[in-house]
Amino acid sequence: MTDTVVRVTDLHKSFGSNHVLRGIDLEVARGEVVCIIGPSGSGKSTLLRCVNLLEVPTGGTVVVGDHEMTDPDVDIDAARRTTGMVFQQFNLFAHLSVLKNLTIAQRRVLGRSQQDAERVARANLERVGLANRENAMPRQLSGGQQQRVAIARALSMDPTVMLFDEPTSSLDPELVGDVLDVMRGLAREGMTMLVVTHEIQFAREVADRVLFIDGGVIVEEGAPADVIGAPRQERTRTFLARVL
Ligand code: ADP
Ligand code: MG
Repeated sequence: MTDTVVRVTDLHKSFGSNHVLRGIDLEVARGEVVCIIGPSGSGKSTLLRCVNLLEVPTGGTVVVGDHEMTDPDVDIDAARRTTGMVFQQFNLFAHLSVLKNLTIAQRRVLGRSQQDAERVARANLERVGLANRENAMPRQLSGGQQQRVAIARALSMDPTVMLFDEPTSSLDPELVGDVLDVMRGLAREGMTMLVVTHEIQFAREVADRVLFIDGGVIVEEGAPADVIGAPRQERTRTFLARVL
């Protein structure tokens, strides 16, 4: 039996009359890296946002760890804590130091002592290669460094699964590599990751499984060598021809 960490069943999401997700079924096993690719507007962000309840699904169920996110009686705060989300825009607190960015939610949400929160923060800054920048302010860091701080901040909450929504899309090209390297490292450590990305080579190299989404459905999924290397669906081939 595989140890399923995320289970999405017949997920639907509409915004008014715009039926964006049209029946998504997805399971992610512990330690698995699943990359999601697909055209702009196909529902990739909406899918991630339904997994951590930033959006409320219109239909279907989402289970993360022991929490059924779609249960009306769910403890939303506890359920959300199971996921660590990294956005295209890093969303750091601009007026707080790097260390404080990493400790504040640990203190307020997890109730950790200052000492414990700092210990966890420093370990995670080390993990993303920024051990020497804990006193910097976000504006003093490059975009790539800021994104690595955002990753370290999410990791500091001990999530069951990390959700990445195009984490390198707003970075200058020369800064993309460092962020992808950090993500590669997490994958190697066995972190469970759901990654929306345009970095097809990264997906090919790091993903255990790739999903191609178009029009709110999973059009094709499988090993990267199949979905990216030898796509069976015409829509997948057309998309890859445009981005590769
Ligand atoms: P992707 O991430 O694949 O580019 P999105 O999930 O962001 O796609 O968007 C899919 C569709 O859902 C788009 O048509 C978008 O306009 C719509 N959408 C996303 N979020 C909202 C929202 N909060 N309110 C209304 N429409 C939205
Ligand atoms: Mg998106």
